[in-house]
Amino acid sequence: MTEPISQPTPQAARVRTRFAPSPTGFIHLGNIRSALYPWAYARSQQGDFILRIEDTDLERSTQAAVDVIVEGMAWLGLDHDEGPYYQMQRMARYREVLAQLVERGLAYPCYMSVQELEALRECQLAAKQKPRYSGAWRPEPGKALPPVPQGVQPVLRFRNPLDGVVAWDDKVKGRIEISNAELDDLVIARPDGTPTYNFCVVVDDIDMRITHVIRGDDHVNNTPRQINIFRALGREPPVYAHLPTVLNEQGEKMSKRNGAKPVTQYRDEGFLPDAMVNYLARLGWSHGDDEIFSRAQFLQWFDLDHLGRSAAQFDEAKLRWVNAQHLKNMPGGALAPLVAAQLQKHGIAPDERLPAICDLFKDRCETTVQLADWAAPFYTNVTPSDADRAQYLTPAIVPALTALADALELLATWEQPAIAAAIKATLAAQNLKMPQLAMPVRVLVMGTPQTPSLDAVLALHRRETVLARLRGIAPAR
Ligand code: GLU
Repeated sequence: MTEPISQPTPQAARVRTRFAPSPTGFIHLGNIRSALYPWAYARSQQGDFILRIEDTDLERSTQAAVDVIVEGMAWLGLDHDEGPYYQMQRMARYREVLAQLVERGLAYPCYMSVQELEALRECQLAAKQKPRYSGAWRPEPGKALPPVPQGVQPVLRFRNPLDGVVAWDDKVKGRIEISNAELDDLVIARPDGTPTYNFCVVVDDIDMRITHVIRGDDHVNNTPRQINIFRALGREPPVYAHLPTVLNEQGEKMSKRNGAKPVTQYRDEGFLPDAMVNYLARLGWSHGDDEIFSRAQFLQWFDLDHLGRSAAQFDEAKLRWVNAQHLKNMPGGALAPLVAAQLQKHGIAPDERLPAICDLFKDRCETTVQLADWAAPFYTNVTPSDADRAQYLTPAIVPALTALADALELLATWEQPAIAAAIKATLAAQNLKMPQLAMPVRVLVMGTPQTPSLDAVLALHRRETVLARLRGIAPAR
């Protein structure tokens, strides 16, 4: 990427968006939404989505955090077309552009010491002025600069325009105008020559030909400075959309400190990627009153004109409800591998019955963890609670359970209609109503009295298992 910086941005360029996380902590739902929207916009416009890791904060950036970002995005299906680019690997490029700015008089060395800056700041605060750089080292025609002090490495400052306004039409916040008089000359390189944050972002957004910057609104204050740097580099800035914060359930800004979970934890807790995408999509964007939609519908509908202006609040109960709707809509065959992964955590190896088991129980579950809990009795022993045993497994019911076991053993085929007929015949022979027999059978076979229709449940069990559980009854005393 060594193209000259004076080329104008082509009009009506192919849409290119980016997610540019700083890998300084784990990525939670609030941050990943800043990946979802640029991804969705790129996909909806047949554009490109770029992943850029802003790792210049060497003390706080970790590879572990990068891994969680990449893993979380892969899980949610937020695939990128380019990257990950790492800012630390682009230092030579930033230095090259810094040199061009100095050469063109758009950046200049400033030798003001930290002590001098501090003294200036105190003076300004005492005079009730906003602290800002005085412009002492800013070259102007006819101005005499102070003598260069010996042995001091200067910072580089960006020569911000002195007058006029910086304005942009934010896709979320509407028009924003900042007077240049409000902005002082930003430090764009430290004394050791390393570029600073706002400068790197602009060079990257230019080199990566980003057309739409969709990011958290904690960056709104950086935007006028970045726009001025764009223009100094001969480019028009991209379109900006600054997303309002995501608040946690207590109404605080979501963060690790106040209990936010890493995004990958939702996978472990049995949430579906499509449901997460659906939920996060609605956390700051709307399409009429639509609450439940597929990924394809979302991409068809997503635009930057319906982004919400106010902070969105995370609501775990709503997320669980959205997940339940997606779970219900997914075929058992698609759920089975996800449920198998949950079962495997408990050392349970499922078999070919799992898709049908998922279909039978998915309506009563919010997560694949709950679905795995329903699938477990098909593969491991059950332990009914003492209360259920006392209520349902009375000595009086034992003959009926034995009779049912005998009838089931004689069936020519282990299929639902035959099982239903055997249950019916046993009820008649024992002069019982369905619940009187069905509840104890469920407690013995599934460990709980509440299940879907008994014949459907039994049909998915192995016959030997059912017979053993019915005959192994030790009635409550
Ligand atoms: N690295 C910044 C952050 O994680 C994002 C910068 C940007 O999107 O421009 O907050």
